[in-house]
Formats: sequence, C-alpha cells, structure tokens
Amino acid sequence: VAKKQGRNLVKPFVPSMQEELAKRVRIEGDLRAAIRQGEIVPYYQPLVDLKANKIIGFEALARWKSASGDFIPPSEFIPVAEEAGLIVELTDQLLRRACTDALSWPNELVLSFNLSPIQLSDRLLGLRILKILGDVGLPAHRVELEVTESAIIQDAVTARIVLDDLVNAGVRIALDDFGTGYSSLSQLSNYRFDKIKIDRSFVASFETDDKQDIVIKAIIALGAGLGVMITAEGIEEQSQLQRLQDLGCDIGQGYLLGRPAPIEEITAHQVDSMQRR
Ligand code: C2E
Ligand code: MG
Ligand code: MG
Ligand code: MG
Repeated sequence: VAKKQGRNLVKPFVPSMQEELAKRVRIEGDLRAAIRQGEIVPYYQPLVDLKANKIIGFEALARWKSASGDFIPPSEFIPVAEEAGLIVELTDQLLRRACTDALSWPNELVLSFNLSPIQLSDRLLGLRILKILGDVGLPAHRVELEVTESAIIQDAVTARIVLDDLVNAGVRIALDDFGTGYSSLSQLSNYRFDKIKIDRSFVASFETDDKQDIVIKAIIALGAGLGVMITAEGIEEQSQLQRLQDLGCDIGQGYLLGRPAPIEEITAHQVDSMQRR
C-alpha cells in the first residue's frame, strides 16, 4: 500500500520542495548582497492621534526593492534573515538609518521600530540599540520598539533583561499584533507596556462581525484601565475610523491615514499638511 501511495503522493511534492529550497537559497544569497549594499531601507507609515487628529510619529517598515524592481515583502525576507544569521546586521543597519531619518522630523515625532521575536533572546540587544541611538544622537524618548507576545514568551528571562535596559534608558515599548498568536493576558500584568497595538485582523472584520466590535471595545477598556495607549492597525475605511474614534481608541494606523512611504516623501511640509487633516 505504502509503495502504491508513495508513487502517487511523493512525486508531486518533490519538485515543489526542490523549488522551495532553491528559492530559499537564492533569496539568502540575494539578501546577503542586498544588506551589504544597503538596498533594504525603512519606509514610514504615520501613526495618528485619533483624538487630536495629528501625526505623532511613524512606524519604520523594512522594504527591499529587488534588482528586477519589485518589492519583496518583509514577511518573506525577515524570516530568511533570522535563519541565515543576518538579522543582527540587518536590524543594526535599518535602525541606524531610521534614527538618522527621524532626526529630520519635527522634534516631537516618535520613531516606532519592529523587533523580531528571535532578537529578544539576545541579551546584548538593548545595549546595542542604545549604542546606535547614542551614535546617531536621537534621544531615547523619541524611540518606541514594537515587540510581540511570542517574542516575550520564547525566552522570558532574557526578554526582561533587554526590555529593562531599554525602558530604563527612556525607550518606549509597544505590544504589536495584540490578539493574535500566543496571546496571553498575563503578559499585560508582567510588563509595563506603553502601547498595545490591536492586530489589523480585528479592525478588518469588526464592522461585519458584532463579536469583533465587542473585542475591540474590551481592548480599549483594558487599555484605559491599565493606563496603556491603544493603537488600531489596518484602518482602511472611513467607517472603521469613525467607529474607532467613537469607541475612544487613542491611535490609528492604516492605508486610509497614510501608506508606508520612503523618507523623501516624509518631508516637513507633508507632515505639516497631514497635521491639519
Ligand atoms: P507589523 O509590525 O504588524 O506592521 C504592520 C503591517 O501592516 C505592515 O506590513 C504594513 O504595511 C501593513 N499595513 C499598514 N496599514 C495597513 C492597511 O490599512 N491595510 C493592510 N492590509 N495592511 C496595512 P509590512 O510592511 O508588509 O510588514 C509586515 C510585518 O513585517 C510587520 O508587521 C513586522 O512584523 C515585520 N517587519 C517589517 N519591518 C520590519 C523590520 O524592520 N524588522 C523586523 N524585525 N520586522 C519587520
Ligand atoms: Mg509593527
Ligand atoms: Mg502590527
Ligand atoms: Mg501585524
């Protein structure tokens, strides 16, 4: 039976596995070169204070424009960078660049930067980040780091050391993609987050799904109770924005409010006009 099935099952998988592997090897080689040549750059998406209607900062989102001209999404190359041991180099490069860019923004604007789960098990991460801020001259209070719950759960002891180093220096910490993955409410009492970002899957479906509306309402109430700011990700529709504002959500982010854009487009003039939206 096995032989018979084997013939039918194995055959179609072999080529696709080889393709996958070949693709992986190719991306890894290209990635190494792209990092060396500084081809992966941060784009910036506005974070908007939904009560005052003004931009309070930007989230840096890594963008890799390949030689062929198309963009390879971070969901594809960040995991490769992690596995290939390139994530430290890539992060240092992106963060240095983002901090330098942030120096050209109005002083009150914050730079929000994503950390991969794997990085939080590196004891020296906090100190390395602070070294970069120091080198560039960006004050720690203008920097916010986005971490996920799975990152903290992976190696809680080391994550605590890293986050403490950063928090003690004045860096703020946001809990990203809240409500997905290994969501554990215990993280909220173990750590003192400055912000909680509601995953965009909730925002995408909450108008058509009463339960999601209740979930979002509860998260906003939780934030108010804990004294933690709540950000809603993935706002694409005016009606979503309106509902989140009615519910008292603090901060919003999404294509409706602004797409990720290269630094050239984040000029003082643009920030200014966005402030008056
Ligand atoms: P994230 O941190 O949750 O970032 C938000 C993602 O939602 C971004 O995808 C952003 O482009 C997208 N987004 C924003 N507004 C909307 C919207 O209205 N609709 C929709 N459909 N999407 C929206 P992106 O840039 O592809 O990044 C994906 C993930 O990759 C990020 O999720 C983050 O976890 C990771 N990532 C991005 N840049 C970096 C980086 O420099 N370092 C690390 N470690 N991870 C990064
Ligand atoms: Mg993020
Ligand atoms: Mg997120
Ligand atoms: Mg997300």
